[in-house]
Amino acid sequence: MLLLSGPNIAGNEWKYVKDCLDTGWVSSVGSYVTQFENMLAEFSGCKYGVATSNGTTALHVSLMLAGVKQDDYVIVPNVTFIASINSIKYTGADPILIDVHPGTWQMDLDLLEEFLENETDEKDGQLFYVKDGRTIRCIMPVHVLGNTIDLTRFMELANRYHLPVVEDATESLGTYYKGQHTGSFGLMGCFSFNGNKIITTGGGGVIVTNNEELARKAKHLTTQAKSDPFEYIHDEVGYNYRLVNVLAAMGVAQMELLPSFVKRKKEINDFYRSALQGCGDISFQEIAPEVDCNCWLFTFRTSKQRELLKLLNEKQLQSRPFWVPMNQLRMFKDNIYYNHNDCSGTIYSECLSIPCSTNITDAELETVAQAIRSIY
Ligand SMILES: *Cc1c(COP(=O)(O)O)cnc(C)c1O
Repeated sequence: MLLLSGPNIAGNEWKYVKDCLDTGWVSSVGSYVTQFENMLAEFSGCKYGVATSNGTTALHVSLMLAGVKQDDYVIVPNVTFIASINSIKYTGADPILIDVHPGTWQMDLDLLEEFLENETDEKDGQLFYVKDGRTIRCIMPVHVLGNTIDLTRFMELANRYHLPVVEDATESLGTYYKGQHTGSFGLMGCFSFNGNKIITTGGGGVIVTNNEELARKAKHLTTQAKSDPFEYIHDEVGYNYRLVNVLAAMGVAQMELLPSFVKRKKEINDFYRSALQGCGDISFQEIAPEVDCNCWLFTFRTSKQRELLKLLNEKQLQSRPFWVPMNQLRMFKDNIYYNHNDCSGTIYSECLSIPCSTNITDAELETVAQAIRSIY
């Protein structure tokens, strides 16, 4: 089976993991955790990095630190992986789902602006949803597939409405907007190192921020909120959300490979775009010239989506549809979904992702492209 986006263990992973096993520093204390945190902070242009057990826990803690509480709202795009919304629900808040743009498949900023203008109001510097008076505490953009919205306009909107930003940058490690790394625009940004992401630790996450106090609090909350180095004194309800040293060791090795991975993802993207260009009704995700995209997961749009999914998976070429839009899931069907013509639904029925692991060969790419071309 040719994997959609599999791990590529090609560098010092064995060496650094062996070092942990040899020295006994396998668990929550050890130098690789700090090294990995520093690498992520430096790479993303942020001052601080805090490692977590995965991207979902990174989002959960970031939302809590942004002040999100029971019965608040958090604005988020309707097309994303479930973890974005789950992390909101863990805080007791509810998502306000904003439809996506037909070309970029990211949160539609015209809709967002319209929503903020028409459906919200401000009292004592705090935004609320007019229909029920509940507080809108935070906004979470998701850099879907490594692409991003116009972050200049987005940040201007967020600032105008006094909305703290927590970036779901779990898919966008290696993506820049006007030369600035994603994850560094908001109050906090979250990365994921799940097995399918551009680099992996098996499972893991990092929160990046330029705010020292938030970084300190994130470390505290993710390590059971222990407030005394010796005695078991905990000053609030904390979480066991840390990344262990063995996995951080793997992460350090993967970070060394990241530039080569981004380069390969871009090559794969260029290959598919030219090989599938003009083929039936195939169209591609719009990437603005200001975006330097990591091209994490190659995805395209066609009315023959279902047919292709069946054909490719039968040929052992792992392919997947896009996520079911959040408003179509049982748990979120009654949540606010701001849209005009449900672009999310169309995108869901037409998009598919195809094999684009960084260790895919040129011959394998050709095989995938040929299989796709054969049905048009
Ligand atoms: C991968 C991912 C996450 C969560 O990351 P985990 O490390 O799997 O918990 C969150 N949001 C999006 C959009 C993702 O793709």
